[in-house]
Amino acid sequence: MSVKNSIIFGPINSRRFGMSLGIDLSPTTKQCNFDCLYCELAPSATVSAQSETIQVQEIIEELQKHLDEKIDVITLTANGEPTLYPYLNELIEEINSIKNETETLILTNSASLVNPDIFNALLKLDQVKLSLDAVSSHIFKKIDRPHESIDINAVVQKVIEFSQIYKGKLFIEILFVHGLNDTKEEVAKLNDVLLEINASRIDLGTIDRPPAYPVMGVSYKELHELSMLFNASLPIHIASRIHAEANNAFYSDADILNTLDKRPLTKEDVALLFDDDTQKRLEQLIQKNQVSLKKLQNLEFYIPSENLKRKRKK
Ligand code: SF4
Repeated sequence: MSVKNSIIFGPINSRRFGMSLGIDLSPTTKQCNFDCLYCELAPSATVSAQSETIQVQEIIEELQKHLDEKIDVITLTANGEPTLYPYLNELIEEINSIKNETETLILTNSASLVNPDIFNALLKLDQVKLSLDAVSSHIFKKIDRPHESIDINAVVQKVIEFSQIYKGKLFIEILFVHGLNDTKEEVAKLNDVLLEINASRIDLGTIDRPPAYPVMGVSYKELHELSMLFNASLPIHIASRIHAEANNAFYSDADILNTLDKRPLTKEDVALLFDDDTQKRLEQLIQKNQVSLKKLQNLEFYIPSENLKRKRKK
């Protein structure tokens, strides 16, 4: 495949972001400032800048061929980290001038937010997804194996700052790796940071594809248990279900309300966690207006009706 043909991919129907047309800003080789244990690409040495670069005009010419397709979002991504693309600001401005109603999204590991030029360029996008796997330096270094120039404390401060001024939809993603960031202590630290971040949604995931290094993900049940450790006011969503085993347990009406109070659940979560009888009683609670469905970006959550009025508390 020529470089040109591999710059644009999709559209892919993504549950979380809708119909997404991808732009790969490093189509020929992996170029990343992390070397994550769980990366679905092959392990590679970290870099702080791209050495192989495509021209903005080449990307725009390819993108224009696809703009009349039915797409919700143009997603900037890469074999590696898209913010290492040296002409990112220029590219975003060019896309914004031709995209019409289609939204723009970037999937980034957050580290480049410490660079003011990248920080300001990302403010011009409609949606930003920032990864934040750990806030403790030793755990961050073990999981994400960052370039030596990266300090997680500085990154976290910039993520908070970004969330406070960004006007678009901000998604945070935490990927759990068994035995590394899945401890109560690390979740408590992540929770404290997340309470400072103004996120539209926080996606909890785990390893869904063969990882670069021999590490394991956590089960859906463990992800659900981890999700319950976060503050109930946070817009947490369990994003990973590839290896989900159905738990299908009985919950009383009080248990249903209590669970939804701590953690709103999607239809997919309900199908995995509740047995048939519990699912029927959940429907009755909706009819009695004790439970409501609330839309958060592309996803619908069951939530106690009482909580629709609730404000975030620390
Ligand atoms: S940031 Fe993304 S591309 Fe880079 S190593 Fe981690 S998972 Fe792979």
